[in-house]
Amino acid sequence: MPNKKKMPNKKKSIFFFGNGKAEGNAQMRELLGGKGAGLHEMTRIGVPVPPGFTISTEVCSYFYAHRRRYPTGLETNVAAGLARIGKILGRRFGDTDNPLLVSVRSGARESMPGMMDTVLNLGLNDRTVSGLTRRANNARFAFDSYRRFVQMYADVVLGIKAKDKIESDPLEAIFERKKKARGVRFDTELSAADLEDLVVAYKDEIKARLGKEFPDDPMDQLWGAIGAVFDSWNNDRAIAYRELYGIPHNWGTAVNVQAMVFGNLGDNCATGVAFTRDPASGEKHFYGEFLTNAQGEDVVAGIRTPRPIGELGQVVPTAARELQRICGLLERHYRDMQDIEFTIEDGKLWMLQTRTGKRTGFAAVRIAVDMVGERIISKNEGLIRIEPDQLNQLLRPIFDQQTKEKAHKQGNLLGKGLPAGPGAATGRVVFYADDAVEWKKRGERVVLCRIETSPDDIRGMDAAQGVLTARGGMTSHAALVARQMGKVCVAGCEVLQIDYAARILKVDQAELKEGDWISIDGSTGEVFKGEIQTLPSEVLQVLVAGSLDPKKSRIYQHFAKLMKWADAVRTLGVRTNADQPDQAAIAKAFGSEGIGLCRTEHMFFQGDRIQAVREMILADDETGRRRALAKLLPMQKQDFKGILDIMGSLPVTIRTLDPPLHEFLPKSDDEVVELAQVMGVPVEVLRNKVNVLQEFNPMLGHRGCRLGISYPEITEMQAQAIFEAACELRREGKNPFPEVMIPLVSSRQELHEQRTIVERIAKETQKSYGVKVRYLVGTMIELPRACMVADEIAEEAEFFSFGTNDLTQTCLGLSRDDAGKFLPSYVLQGLLPADPFVSIDQDGVGALMRIAVTKGRKRRKRLEMGICGEHGGDPKSVEFCHDIGLDYVSCSPYRVAVAKLAAAQAALRKKH
Ligand code: PEP
Ligand code: MG
Repeated sequence: MPNKKKMPNKKKSIFFFGNGKAEGNAQMRELLGGKGAGLHEMTRIGVPVPPGFTISTEVCSYFYAHRRRYPTGLETNVAAGLARIGKILGRRFGDTDNPLLVSVRSGARESMPGMMDTVLNLGLNDRTVSGLTRRANNARFAFDSYRRFVQMYADVVLGIKAKDKIESDPLEAIFERKKKARGVRFDTELSAADLEDLVVAYKDEIKARLGKEFPDDPMDQLWGAIGAVFDSWNNDRAIAYRELYGIPHNWGTAVNVQAMVFGNLGDNCATGVAFTRDPASGEKHFYGEFLTNAQGEDVVAGIRTPRPIGELGQVVPTAARELQRICGLLERHYRDMQDIEFTIEDGKLWMLQTRTGKRTGFAAVRIAVDMVGERIISKNEGLIRIEPDQLNQLLRPIFDQQTKEKAHKQGNLLGKGLPAGPGAATGRVVFYADDAVEWKKRGERVVLCRIETSPDDIRGMDAAQGVLTARGGMTSHAALVARQMGKVCVAGCEVLQIDYAARILKVDQAELKEGDWISIDGSTGEVFKGEIQTLPSEVLQVLVAGSLDPKKSRIYQHFAKLMKWADAVRTLGVRTNADQPDQAAIAKAFGSEGIGLCRTEHMFFQGDRIQAVREMILADDETGRRRALAKLLPMQKQDFKGILDIMGSLPVTIRTLDPPLHEFLPKSDDEVVELAQVMGVPVEVLRNKVNVLQEFNPMLGHRGCRLGISYPEITEMQAQAIFEAACELRREGKNPFPEVMIPLVSSRQELHEQRTIVERIAKETQKSYGVKVRYLVGTMIELPRACMVADEIAEEAEFFSFGTNDLTQTCLGLSRDDAGKFLPSYVLQGLLPADPFVSIDQDGVGALMRIAVTKGRKRRKRLEMGICGEHGGDPKSVEFCHDIGLDYVSCSPYRVAVAKLAAAQAALRKKH
């Protein structure tokens, strides 16, 4: 029973729904959770929903704030709610003749499939079970419900679980022993008396383990279940899920207490889940699965592989037609793809849930584009609905068809399951989620192979290339999670026999051990032994390789349409960070509008260039340095020419040398000795030079423009390479547009020094080639001081580019190379909302950026501004950049599409 405490400001704590009336609606997700809001809304619009009530998320917050106590009045309200349900159905909770049974389910604001707990058939005890037997005229059903209830309650409320991953669930073990003793394979073959024995055996086991009786009073059972559902908000897997998806830990869950309807009363009963469109591919067809004579959890728990929804009409024709009608109604009502749960009791359909269905990136794009075509939503709504990061899934590799055919011919096909998450995955077999995490840490690619996927596996699923299960359907909870993560997934490949203890997977004669290679095709459901080569995705084949005709790829067409819509609404430019011509070509294929950062030092590592770089570093004087730089000049020029040429007349921002020089020298003594030999210098001289260049904090040391200040000849050579490349292109009739960028500037004077060199070289080179080149000289803004004196710097700069990697490091005083050791725990403890190296710290780094934007534009009205730190590809940061008025973001080539969509969304959000 709950303790009494006052609920602050006397808020309503429970909300009733039933018989066509509801106290809540779809807008009340925060208070009622997603499931609750859906039940209320369905009731309102006349969909058949078993009556019930929702205990609000505020009660959950209260519960946690008051050491697991409930607010005053909740007890009375719950009793009144039960009475109201009973009145509608003509039953009473705890009644021995005609008992009302209820389900108790969690339901957070955002759906967290399978992460929290549920109890079904609550209200059964040795007396009420006879009432249920009489009402259903079916003792087997009544005792089956009873044993399911005790088993579920023991697990969820009383915490009776397997000790480790090898031990089986203690009550499940009793169940298996019973089946063995009876010589049967399926649950359905056990008699009412067997099931009654099981209830007794379960209760004995519980008493032996806990030292107390199983609760008999239905009211005690109910409060136990409510508390357990609230507690489940903070179980490990729910916490892990929230971390993965950035759901705040303080939201809490609602609890739905609802009259039971039974899908296991006989052969005219069924239970299932369905999607109004295919959640994997997005195709427009009614899609779902069901089991006859079963309870809801049997479908989602992945224990029995369900039948396709198309066959439901053969079992219960009227209810199947009604289900189609209601699903159409719900999709139109919510104007989005719905994921529904239903139960059919004695031929009558009941809806138990509707929610916006989780979908893969493929499906998200397809559904948005199709719904715009069907005039269900506008283009802008279509754009807003897709998570930008989901577009990455469309760029994932697929299997090479020829190699796959070869694998078929060689007899490597192990079997076929359901194509639950599109894409191709090849990796080593692991059987446990924690092994997947461990192996990934060691740098291995793994495929997580499980008999049934379970919500406990999410961290392992995240670490794996793909997920393979032997049992469970397309709508098993973990398959849903795999899809949402964008993981390649094949579910329900029934020919697989997995032996966890032996760590072996068998199909007929074939046997794969832990660590062996396996390949799964999440678009076809095929499972192969061995490694299969992959090819770029269809989108990349069309855009980058040019090996696929766009007319032949539906996926590409949908993608292209979406990008066209995004381009039409966004105002923020999207450029790319690229150091080589091939990267620039990819960026251009994705529609990048320029290069926002070309890190020239990356070119120094190619081929034997490093030799010349080292010569330059080791030179004793300027003459020696110039000699070495002269060797580098033609190579840099060639690189710049390649990039400038590919980008046509689009801007290409080329940064002068940035990293500390020691990065180009060997680290270990063996390497020093080896290099000394190659270069023909005494070991001591080299060792000494390495020591001299050593710094305690190299990231705050002799780097950035400080190098160009110390050694102006380096800046000179780089400027020369840039302008010679540009002038040569100009002579060829092209129109290159270099933007020369000076890094790590903190004062106007620094930039002035460097700019003077660049301008002088630009002038001389143009003169000697007899051509004019369009160019800009500007700076990175990546130090707090640069932000504070941005007005002065703007006098020298024609553009600013925010280097938010360094700006984050210097603003927060966090080393970008070492913070990984403790930052995750900061995020975990809520000390930081997100990793500031991933998503801009808007209050700190963002505030500095705002200052720089305002000061910079005050001094130079048309100052071009962009960002080239890693944040340029993070959707939240892109939105921030739009909001503070930057001209463009620059990100890696493969994130151009993500950034474009995020930029379009930012423009649309600001409009409203
Ligand atoms: C930055 O600091 O954000 C940046 C782009 O430069 P780098 O990462 O090369 O230091
Ligand atoms: Mg930097």
